[in-house]
Amino acid sequence: MTTKIPVSILGATGTVGQKFVRLLAEHPWFEVAAVAASEQSAGKRYGEIVRWRESTPLPEKVAAMTIARCEPTIPGRIAFSAIEADIAGAVEQSFARVGVYVVTNTRTHRMDPDIPLLIPEVNHEHLGLLDRQQRERGWTGGIVANPNCSTAGLVLAVAPLHRAFGVQKLFVATMQAVSGAGYPGVASLDALGNVIPYIGGEEEKMEQETAKMLGAFARGTVTAAPIVTSAHTNRVPVIDGHLEVVSIGFARRVTPDDAIAALETFRAEGDVANLPSTPARPVEVDRRPDRPQSRLDIDRGAGMTVTVGRVRPCNLLDIRLVLLSHNTIRGAAGAAIQNAELLVARGYVK
Ligand code: NAP
Repeated sequence: MTTKIPVSILGATGTVGQKFVRLLAEHPWFEVAAVAASEQSAGKRYGEIVRWRESTPLPEKVAAMTIARCEPTIPGRIAFSAIEADIAGAVEQSFARVGVYVVTNTRTHRMDPDIPLLIPEVNHEHLGLLDRQQRERGWTGGIVANPNCSTAGLVLAVAPLHRAFGVQKLFVATMQAVSGAGYPGVASLDALGNVIPYIGGEEEKMEQETAKMLGAFARGTVTAAPIVTSAHTNRVPVIDGHLEVVSIGFARRVTPDDAIAALETFRAEGDVANLPSTPARPVEVDRRPDRPQSRLDIDRGAGMTVTVGRVRPCNLLDIRLVLLSHNTIRGAAGAAIQNAELLVARGYVK
């Protein structure tokens, strides 16, 4: 690609927005043409007001940009959305209406029947919903969503098992990092030395989004997979990385060795394998008894690989395991960038 595609970041000052700035700094296909945020930030220089929390230096080009309002007149063929969900609906639609492809992290449109909810390695064919969306809504652009951060890891780890053996039941309990709540997020006096057994709306999202993403796409419709999920979500004092303990019930007998073989041989297919953000291994199995661990395993595959461990028989269902995924990369900015790459690879964005 000789000329890079201009993109904008909506919510560029936030936790996920900053991750976009970092990941897009060296991207081979995309370059940041605009950063946008709330009324309070608009008109100010990004470098002056952002509370930069990434471990790499803030790119100078972005630091010098003036923050725009989230209005569709800003430059960019693709808009990466990381704004508050409560206001995202109207904003994202206004961009899609005038020909921009919005790749969103927000919950707002995820369960709309004509919005693709994508993990390219799992359900790239759901992108076909975009044609229906454009036809029915009269848009020249469109909206594509990535799942909730805790659902992303769960679905990537479960998809190979569902394909091979047919998953019927999922029990999942999460230990979710504080960065999942944005910045400043959970107050330190609530988070430190503590576990909070409630994350508003998170359990419902995991239960619904999993069934949609593992569902079948045919004739412009996704039929949800008949998987019953019971989710318990907890906030723990970890900075990045959602750890999840999962028990899985299958349609037939499955041994731990069967499950490990399905997970270890899982690869991205076709054009998805060649996207710049697709890791060599979307899922890695670590057989050491005390892995994965949040601090040690979070950056595998540049944050896009989900690590699975402790695959063993379950006394209630069939198999149980532990998984770890990076909530602001595989669960947010990295996932959205990979979805945008798929839009380019499939010819939606030229
Ligand atoms: P955050 O750190 O609180 O950042 C929120 C961003 O939204 C800021 O850039 C803020 O700009 C902007 N914003 C707030 N009100 C706005 C308005 N009225 N108009 C335009 N922009 C506005 O939150 P976050 O964690 O990055 O999350 C952003 C979105 O991604 C949320 O919808 C969240 O649910 C979703 N998400 C987050 C994660 C995660 O791991 N953190 C994972 C998946 C999805 P100002 O600085 O100007 O206020």
